[in-house]
Amino acid sequence: MQHPQFESICAKEVKDPRTTKPHVLPLYATSSFAFESIDEGMDIFTNKKEGHVYGRYGNPTMDAVADKIAALEAAGTGKEAAALLFSSGQAAVCTMMLAMLKQGDKILTQGNLYGGTTELFLKVLQPHGIETILMDLHDLELVEKTVKNDPAIKMLYCETPANPTLACVDLEALAGIAQRYDRYSAVDNTFATPYLQQPLRYGIDFIIHSTTKFLNGHGNSIAGALVTSHTAQMRMGGAIWTTLKLAGTNCNPWDAWLIHNGMKTLAVRMERHCENALRIAQELENDGHVSRVNYCGLPSHPDHLIAKKQMRAFGGMLSFELKGGLDAGIRFMNAIKFCTLAPTLGDVDTLILHPASMSHLNVAKEVRLKNGITDGLIRLSVGIEHVEDIIGDLKQAMGSI
Ligand SMILES: *Cc1c(COP(=O)(O)O)cnc(C)c1O
Repeated sequence: MQHPQFESICAKEVKDPRTTKPHVLPLYATSSFAFESIDEGMDIFTNKKEGHVYGRYGNPTMDAVADKIAALEAAGTGKEAAALLFSSGQAAVCTMMLAMLKQGDKILTQGNLYGGTTELFLKVLQPHGIETILMDLHDLELVEKTVKNDPAIKMLYCETPANPTLACVDLEALAGIAQRYDRYSAVDNTFATPYLQQPLRYGIDFIIHSTTKFLNGHGNSIAGALVTSHTAQMRMGGAIWTTLKLAGTNCNPWDAWLIHNGMKTLAVRMERHCENALRIAQELENDGHVSRVNYCGLPSHPDHLIAKKQMRAFGGMLSFELKGGLDAGIRFMNAIKFCTLAPTLGDVDTLILHPASMSHLNVAKEVRLKNGITDGLIRLSVGIEHVEDIIGDLKQAMGSI
C-alpha cells in the first residue's frame, strides 16, 4: 500500500504500537469499536463473543466501573450481582421502572424519597399508567396487607437512610414481603453506599445509586448505577440492558472514569465521614440552639435499631432543627464560613443546606412540613476534613443567630 497523503494522516485513527500495560484504567473516549473481520462483528452482535459495538450499548471504561460497583455490593454476601451505569441516579431509577413495569402496574413507596424520585414517579410514570402508592414503610403490617390485596403492586421501592430525617426502612422485612407475594423490591442505597449497607444480603432485588454522591465523592460528575441479582436482565437482550440501550440513558466514559478514581478511596472516606458525623451529631445534641438532631447513629433516633441491624456505621448525613425557626436558619447560614452552601451531598468537603430557604423554597409549606422539612431544619453532608474545623464553624454560626 502507498503512504497515505496529508489529509488521510489527519483523518485516520492512530494505532498505538506500544505494548506496555496502563496501570490505571484507561479512558476509552470512543463512540464505536472496530471489528477485525465480519465474523468477529457477527459474533459480538449476536452475543457469541464478548466485545463492544457502540458506546451507547457499553464501553470498556464504563463496564469496568459497573463491574466494580457490582462487586462492592456483592462482596461477602455470597450473591451474584450485575451492574450498569447510567447518565444519572434518576436515569437509573427511570430505566429500571420502564424495564420492569408496564401500564397498570403500581409502585408502593414512602413519601420521604429524594424529591426528584417522587416527582419522577408522579409526573412522568403516573401519566403513563404506572401508579404510585405512598405509605409509611415502618408500618409493615399495613404494607403487607396492601401488597397482599393488590396484585397490581409490582415494585416495593424504598430509600434508607432517607432525606432529611435519616428515617430508615427495615430492608429484611421489606424484601421478605416482596418475596412472599412474588413482587420486586428496590432500594436507593446512595446515602449508605455498599461500604455501610449491602441490600443484597437481605434479599433486595434492585439497588440504585446516585454515584454523583459518596461513590464518586469528589463532586465532579453526575451519574447513576443500578445493581441487581437478576443478572440476566442486565446482559445483552435482558429487559434493563435493552431499555438502557434504546432509551439512551447510558453513562459516558469520562464520568465513569471519575467515579472509578473516587471509589478507590471509598472505604477510608466513609470511615472518616461516619466518625466526623457521629462526633458532630453528639456536639449538636448538647447545643442550646438546637431542638433536635436527626442522625441514625444516635440512640435518640427513632430508627437507630433498624440502622444498627443493617448498617456497618451510620454515614455522613445528618440534619438538625434550630429553635429559632426560619429567621434563625437564614442567619445561621449567612454566618457559615468554613462549610459550603451547596445543594448536593457526599463530597469530601462539608456541605450545608437550609431546605426551607434553598432547595424547598418553591415547595408549598404544608407539603414541606409533611415531609419533615421544618423552617429551622439544617442538613449537613459531613466531609472528611478535621472535625474541629467543622464544629468550630457550626459553633461560631450558632453565635450569630
Ligand atoms: C441525588 C440523589 C438522587 C438523584 O441522583 P442524580 O445523580 O442527581 O440523578 C437519587 N437519590 C438520592 C438519595 C440522591 O441523593
